[in-house]
Amino acid sequence: MNFRVIILLLLTTPVFAQQKASVSNLRKVVEVLASDSLKGRAYKSEEIKLAREYIIENFQKVGLKPYGNSFEHKVSWHEQLDGNQEVTNIVGYIEGSDAKLKDEFLVIGAHYDHVGYTADGDTVIYNGADDNASGVSGIIELARLLLSNNQRPARSILIVAFDAEEVGLVGSTKFVKNSPIPLDKIKAMMSVDMIGRADLINGVIFSGIGSLKGITISPSLFSSEKNREVKLVKSPSSMVFRTDTGPFFRKNIPALYIDTGLKGFYHKPEDDANTLDYEGMAFVVDNLKKLVEVIAEQPNVTFHNPIPTVALGFTFGGGLNHFRLTSGGVDNKSTLTFNAGISSLIQLGKRSAIQSDVLLKAKTSRSAIGNIIMPSIFVPVHFMLISPYNSSRGFFGIGPYYSYSFQRYVSGDKMPMASKDKNDYGLSVMVGGIGMNNQVALRCCYGFKRMMEDQPRMHYRSVELSFTKFLRY
Ligand SMILES: [Zn+2]
Repeated sequence: MNFRVIILLLLTTPVFAQQKASVSNLRKVVEVLASDSLKGRAYKSEEIKLAREYIIENFQKVGLKPYGNSFEHKVSWHEQLDGNQEVTNIVGYIEGSDAKLKDEFLVIGAHYDHVGYTADGDTVIYNGADDNASGVSGIIELARLLLSNNQRPARSILIVAFDAEEVGLVGSTKFVKNSPIPLDKIKAMMSVDMIGRADLINGVIFSGIGSLKGITISPSLFSSEKNREVKLVKSPSSMVFRTDTGPFFRKNIPALYIDTGLKGFYHKPEDDANTLDYEGMAFVVDNLKKLVEVIAEQPNVTFHNPIPTVALGFTFGGGLNHFRLTSGGVDNKSTLTFNAGISSLIQLGKRSAIQSDVLLKAKTSRSAIGNIIMPSIFVPVHFMLISPYNSSRGFFGIGPYYSYSFQRYVSGDKMPMASKDKNDYGLSVMVGGIGMNNQVALRCCYGFKRMMEDQPRMHYRSVELSFTKFLRY
């Protein structure tokens, strides 16, 4: 290579190098944040202050401006057990290039805290390289790329390193509560949380694209490499509430999360800087930049709740049944029973729904004359109160049930039934928990109708545990 070519390369390389994420920049920030000396960056620790200083230094270095007087946005809050607390989010600002759109913002966040260390016996440090030194390093590099472009993004961008994610999304929750800009000006939020293991999933997942109303993000926007691609996922999973997107999503702000999954050393002491795929991180950041630029220039960005309002599922359960004699005679004893069927859940509002099931079940009881089995169809309809959107939600449901029994067997022998006796109705109550797709419920039924006309007052009772798997809930 002659001297002139070398000079030419030296002159031109930096210009081109600015356009692509730098593997060495990404590695360097992770190595510092995930070094043993920062002792796992626990919330409120002395070491997290050092992490903070280092992040601010890097925000300045890449040309980010503070939003307001300082990079540090402090919010005090009161924690029931520990009294007065403070979180410090680090906020950097890129002014939008479009005269009109620059009053609107995209928030790109990554939490910088981790879980610290344990010191009983040997000290074990949880360095949190993937979780989430990788994300912080990613947003710093992203900011550098956005600022070194000839043209900044159309909308303004806040690059935010969130505090106190690991203790329950506190930094992002407080940010939303005390937002430096009106929430209706935040058009979308992206959480970059764990992007260091592209090697384990052959690329990166951009989830929650469906929360952008009417905007189509085409897969062709993104680059792909051998063994690396961008996977677009429309519906958010429960992850949307397990990272800093949660508080934004609950405020109806389009929320996307960018990650390479949990297959690495998630919350393990092995999550160290030398285990990350830095080439993969560069791939993530380059493609994230494309995503940010496209969203930033859309004329209208509004929220669409991608969690389906109608869900269908399969359910099965079992428990105890008996036909209770409320007056006279020897009371029946409980016996085991099982049921299976289909369920539908219609979301009415954020906190209410109607769930109806069609179950095949054996109504059973042990009586003085033998075991009674009544194969039945069982249809409860519950009005449900559900706790607010979260990765898991508690609920309470109440409503009527109707059941029709096809036959009655006593000790294995068919016993004729009056057609009146085939019908039964009563009250059903259930309590339980629901994740994005799975529901576990304790159900109790209380029959109102006399089960057999020729018997003194005998009513159906049951206590059952059921499991329901919803498809695309
Ligand atoms: Zn995390």
